[in-house]
Amino acid sequence: MPLVTEISPAGRDLLGIATRIGEEIAAPHADDVDANARFPHESIQAMRDGGLLGAFVPERFGGGGCSITDLSLICTELGKHCGSSAMIFAMHQIQVACIVDSCQGLPYFDDLLAEIASAGRLIASATTEAGIGGNVRSSICAVEYDGEKISLRKQASVISYGAYVDDILVTARRDPDAAASDQVIVHVQRPNLTLDNQIDEWDTLGMRGTCSVGFELYATGTVDQILPRPYAEVSAGTMLPVTHITWASLWLGIAEHAVRKARAVVRAAARKQPGTLPPSARHLATVVGQLDRFRALVAACVRDYELARVDPAIGASMAFTIQMNNLKLLASTDVFAIVHASLEICGLSAYRNGTEFSLGRQLRDAKSASLMVHNDRILDHNASLLCILKD
Ligand SMILES: Cc1cc2nc3c(=O)[nH]c(=O)nc-3n(C[C@H](O)[C@H](O)[C@H](O)COP(=O)(O)OP(=O)(O)OC[C@H]3O[C@@H](n4cnc5c(N)ncnc54)[C@H](O)[C@@H]3O)c2cc1C
Repeated sequence: MPLVTEISPAGRDLLGIATRIGEEIAAPHADDVDANARFPHESIQAMRDGGLLGAFVPERFGGGGCSITDLSLICTELGKHCGSSAMIFAMHQIQVACIVDSCQGLPYFDDLLAEIASAGRLIASATTEAGIGGNVRSSICAVEYDGEKISLRKQASVISYGAYVDDILVTARRDPDAAASDQVIVHVQRPNLTLDNQIDEWDTLGMRGTCSVGFELYATGTVDQILPRPYAEVSAGTMLPVTHITWASLWLGIAEHAVRKARAVVRAAARKQPGTLPPSARHLATVVGQLDRFRALVAACVRDYELARVDPAIGASMAFTIQMNNLKLLASTDVFAIVHASLEICGLSAYRNGTEFSLGRQLRDAKSASLMVHNDRILDHNASLLCILKD
């Protein structure tokens, strides 16, 4: 596999489509999506129509054949306009990447990849489970077997856009006798999937358009719907790095948007009093530096993951996992700090809702970053790895 570090031709086309969707569809609806905590139907349908949902599906299945570099750039672009739409795009691509990396060549999953590309099927994730909090490396629910048939029941306490999906990847114990950490991933799909007894409302501070309510999930299927590799392997090689890269990339987009507003405010102040430095210009210089560092961090991690995809020994190393975890830890705090600093620079015009400089939605969306798989858990993961990793 060749090393990819620049946007591909296919990625460039899809990035252009993402820019158009962001500017013309996601941005105009973002405040309504946020105010009503509703699913961003318009932008997700536009992504489906524009081939974005199949972006990471290889070309031989009819998909966009995008690289991680391409996905990262698309996430950043969408993040500038609507954090919820960008997060839904990112979470969908994480599931697609798990299937692409682990399941190609298996008839059931080859057919699924072709359908994601042709029909724009939307896939969600159900890792979080009532009773274990955010510890994704542990499951209570288990796959039950009846010959070739399987069934699965999970108290899935958070499933983003669950009510609007075609498919879900669900983590579960391999079988009812397996240990809590002996997990597999099962692909379940309607009509053999039901989501009942909705748990709570999704009335949150931010990321309101992700509609991340919980359900009692029940699904039936056949054994060929179980991903062939254990969850631990899929997580280390694909799910964890792709999650942290796509999330960090869209958070970068949110930060880019906020800094653009701050720049416009400072430039306007400078124009009013030529020859004098507006008081907020120094703060702008600081936040632009933070943004540059954030961009460099994302770019470096994308490049290193592209390297790891060519040389699996890199991806399997503890040092690589620590690096990808650090990306999440740093990006999740950077995005909040940068949006907050931009809001301070813009002042009341950003604090007020409904102005061209409003940053309330971005600030609230950015706050979710440290909680989505809590930073404390990720820090503890790195701490445990560092206890055994030699220099
Ligand atoms: C916008 C959004 C979308 C989401 N979408 C999905 C989705 O689609 N699918 C899905 O499965 N999940 C999803 N989640 C859930 C998410 O991934 C986390 O699992 C969830 O946010 C964790 O919830 P928690 O903070 O209540 O739990 P915890 O992670 O248990 O954290 C609660 C508190 O416990 C502390 N804590 C407990 N145990 C430990 C420990 N061992 N180490 C360190 N700290 C600990 C933490 O510091 C924290 O203060 C989403 C979350 C958000 C915010």
